Amino acid sequence: MGKPKYKLETIPVWDALEKDCECFLCDLMKEAETHGVDFYLGSSVMNPETRVKVNEHGFCSHHFNMLSEAQKAQGLALICDTYLAESRNKLNKAFNNLLNTKAGRKCNNDVKFFNLELQKREKGCLICTQMKKRLDRYVYTIIYMCNTDDDFKNALKNSKGVCLHHYNELIQNAVDVLGAKDGEKFIKFFTEIEISNLDRIAEDVLWLTQKYKSENHDKPFNGCEDAHKRTVSKMIGKHRVIDPIDKL
Ligand SMILES: [Zn+2]
Ligand SMILES: [Zn+2]
Repeated sequence: MGKPKYKLETIPVWDALEKDCECFLCDLMKEAETHGVDFYLGSSVMNPETRVKVNEHGFCSHHFNMLSEAQKAQGLALICDTYLAESRNKLNKAFNNLLNTKAGRKCNNDVKFFNLELQKREKGCLICTQMKKRLDRYVYTIIYMCNTDDDFKNALKNSKGVCLHHYNELIQNAVDVLGAKDGEKFIKFFTEIEISNLDRIAEDVLWLTQKYKSENHDKPFNGCEDAHKRTVSKMIGKHRVIDPIDKL
């Protein structure tokens, strides 16, 4: 294995791992997401280059709503002003078709055309794209360090693992980063971690369901009060890249 391809993000990865949550990559993605929201509502909205990108690509529904909830009226108003104008420009033809539609095949086609144009307009998200770039570096760091740093490998082994989606990211990239042999070792190692943590959470959520039965009313929760929420975090993840732009 040669020199690392990326600069290793050792410190943030260690910090997140030590928080001992259900997915430390979701935790890192939360930071990246907050950073993205602050960036697009901050002074960058005045930067012409950023404005062009925002008008062209915009954000997925999750991140547009985060921008909306951030209570920064001026920044979002500037974004909305030109993004809406660009959207209307792109949808103009589809609107005109619908204004002049005719019953039958033309109507069906015009309705379909609007659907396609809207999908095209909303494809890709700048915050997801920023998050994806960071995710790639973190995933690389985790795989690389697991193969070169025994302390890190041990910490991973004793961790709660990651959500299923970030587990998928790790195993998809293992062979690319480490080559066939070490890649296989990493995949087996991490799959064991993931399965034992899925077992743990399955037991917890089962106990929570039992706890609601009258005969268990007086028994202790054993730390399972939030098992339902932790199960969701484990299966679906809390902070994920949804719709990145393929190439920017
Ligand atoms: Zn996750
Ligand atoms: Zn997004």
